[in-house]
Parts: sequence; structure tokens; C-alpha cells
Amino acid sequence: MTGIDETHDPQLRSWVASANEPGTDFPVQNLPYGRFRRSASEEPWRIGVAIGDQILDLKLATGQCPWDAPVAALLEPLAEGDLASLMTCSIDERRLLRLALSTALREGSLQGPFLELCLLPQDDATMTLPCRIGDYTDFYTGIHHATAVGKLFRPDQPLLPNYKWVPIGYHGRSSSIGVSGNDFMRPRGQFRVAADAPPVFDASRRLDYELELGAFVAQGNALGQPVAIADAEDHLFGICLLNDWSARDIQPWEYQPLGPFLSKSFATTISPWIVSMEALAPYRCAWGRPDGDPQPLAYLDAASNRERGAIDITLEVWLQTAAMRKRGERAVRLSASNFRDAYWTLAQLVAHHSSNGCNLGVGDLLGTGTQSGPQAGQGGSLLELTQGGRQPIKLPNGESRTFLEDGDCVTLRAACAREGAARIGFGNCSATVLGASPVAQVRS
Ligand code: CA
Repeated sequence: MTGIDETHDPQLRSWVASANEPGTDFPVQNLPYGRFRRSASEEPWRIGVAIGDQILDLKLATGQCPWDAPVAALLEPLAEGDLASLMTCSIDERRLLRLALSTALREGSLQGPFLELCLLPQDDATMTLPCRIGDYTDFYTGIHHATAVGKLFRPDQPLLPNYKWVPIGYHGRSSSIGVSGNDFMRPRGQFRVAADAPPVFDASRRLDYELELGAFVAQGNALGQPVAIADAEDHLFGICLLNDWSARDIQPWEYQPLGPFLSKSFATTISPWIVSMEALAPYRCAWGRPDGDPQPLAYLDAASNRERGAIDITLEVWLQTAAMRKRGERAVRLSASNFRDAYWTLAQLVAHHSSNGCNLGVGDLLGTGTQSGPQAGQGGSLLELTQGGRQPIKLPNGESRTFLEDGDCVTLRAACAREGAARIGFGNCSATVLGASPVAQVRS
């Protein structure tokens, strides 16, 4: 787990003016990585660092600016568009590059005049997945979500007895993960419209979002070699926002006994910028169990995890309907919660995932599960906010929602702020629900 250093100093300012504006997600203390190219171009994808409302193009920055040899060696594969090269580096190497970028982007930097030529406005860029995502596992660390949803699906036993012992997860589809701005079609699937009715195959009528974070695996582990929890964070590169779109009519019909399948695999949206574990150092906090809950088994317990395993990240969901967009009305906030309330930490997820010898690979993505808060109205999905679709949400413009309608745009946002530290954000994780996917046709 990396500590706080000069790159986190809240007094630092950048020569990129927009990085100093209050409320920016990308001050010089953040420096998240993403993959982009100029909009409407067919250029190869490049790695960049978000700074204010700009992107520092690392291909141009590598070529046009003098760097110390060890830094240049780290930048060269990034200049080729390969973020995985940095993900497999040691923590010390990652910190070295972060310090070099921080120094270069600070006010008064000697490299500033070179790097001014290497900026692209974020508005002029198209983003894509930051790296190849080999495998995607979605966990279920939000105990307030698990309890609320459990009540709807199993009123007699909301939280299953394993929940407080084992970090629950399932293997998701990496093929349908897209970045913010990649809109998607409403899925079709099999579901029942009444408890005793035979199933139908139709467009989902109960389409929902899930407010989650995604953690990217840095160095993997060899098959058969579990990761000790005390080392687990060395295997993480950073965090993005993740929306696990879910069809709530397909889900209850298909999920027993093997878990979610087609109710989830049609689309997942992530924010394009990976906020590094290094950048998150000032916002770490203690982790523990509520009184009366079981303590974790030894392989899921470590002093480092108890001292700093949790992360204080505020999370929000915003909705803009097609009608709101047409009238120029801004999105409305549906809920807010905090990742600090998760029942399991990221280190526990890595330790558990690899505990049977399963090998994690560079660029694998671990979803945290829906992050709902403990209070009413803090649900990270419409399923919770509408009590399973029974209590519609009233929107300020007079519209209401139980589940998502075509044209609805859902945006997830997140930020870290703490006394004595800069505020950093994650950027937007947005996508719009298009009409239903087509029915398969026989090819003649
Ligand atoms: Ca989920």
C-alpha cells in the first residue's frame, strides 16, 4: 500500500489553468490514465493523463520533452499505447512516473513549454477502454444493497448466511464492457410477467443501473499461487466507476441456482480514466466489522487492511431523461453513497479471488458490487429506490420512473475529498438506453 508523498500536496498548482479550478475532477494531485484519440480520427489509440479539462498525450510528451532515463524507459511503451506495460511495473516504478508527471505539470516546471504542445482538450477526444480486459468478476460488497435486494427477492431471509464470511462474486462478461458514452440497446430476454405465468421472451421492462466501482488488476499472480492479503494491493493498479446494467425481470427467473447471466452480460459501462492507487493514498481509512458481526477468516485479515483498507469515495447517480434533454434541463441526482461503507475491501477481494490458486491477469477488472448507503434513499439502483418497482420516483419535471425508459441517460460520478488533501474526481460514467435489441433473424 503506497503512502502520501509530495505529489499529494494540496498546495500544488499546475500551469494547466483548468486544473486549478475548484471542483475540477483532475487537479495535478490526481493524474489518472486513459486511452484516447482525436475525435473523428482513425489514429492509433494513445495513452494520456487527464489534467484539468485537457489530456496530456504521452506519445507526444515522450517525443517532445526531455525526461530522465528511468522515466523515459517507463514512458516509451506508454507512447506506443500500451498501458499494461505500466500496470506490470513495480510500485516504485509507478510512483517514479507519477512524481515525474506531477513535477512536469506543476507551475514553473521547466518542461511546461515542451508539454504545452502535447495537450488535447478532452472535448476533442474520443475515449476507449484503457487496456485489454481479459476477465471481469463482479463482487457484492455493498451490504446495504445486498440486504435491500435480498428483502425483495427473499423476504424471509434477506441476507444469506454466507454473506458475512465469504466475498460473494460471479464471473461477468468482459466482451460487453464499454466506456462512458458508448450507448447500448435494451436487452431482450426470458422472464415472467406474473409469479405463476409461463415465461415470455421480450424486451426487458425492468431495466436498471448499478452504482459500482471497478478495480484494475496490475501485476497478476501465477496459477496455483494465491496472493496474501497483506500484498494484495500491490496487485491493483487503480479504480474507475462501473455501471453494471441489470435487467430485473430476466434476473430473478434465471439466477437460481448458478447466479446472474444474461440479465447482466448485455452491457457494462466504465469511466475511461483510471485513478491510480497512488492517487488515492490520502483518502484511505480504517476498516472493521460492526459489533456482533463475525471477524474475517485469517486469509482475509491483515493489520494493513484494518488500518487503511477502506477508501473514502463519495458516489452519486444522476439521471437525464430524453424529455429533460429536449428541454435543455440538467440531470437530477437520484442518490449518493460512499465506498467507505462496503463490507469487504479491495484487498480482501484480491486475496479471496486468488485464494484457490486462480490466476488474476494484468488488466482484469474487479467490480465492487452496488454501493448503497445505510439510509433510505441511498440505494445504488432503481430496484432499491423504487422498492422493486412498487414506488415510482417523481422527477422535478413531473415525469416518474420505476425502471429506465429508452432515452434515459444515467451518469455515475465519484470524488474523494478530505481535510488537508486536494479534491480529486473520477470523471463521468454515462450511457444512454437505446431501443430494444433486434430479434435474431434466420439468415437465408
Ligand atoms: Ca453488480
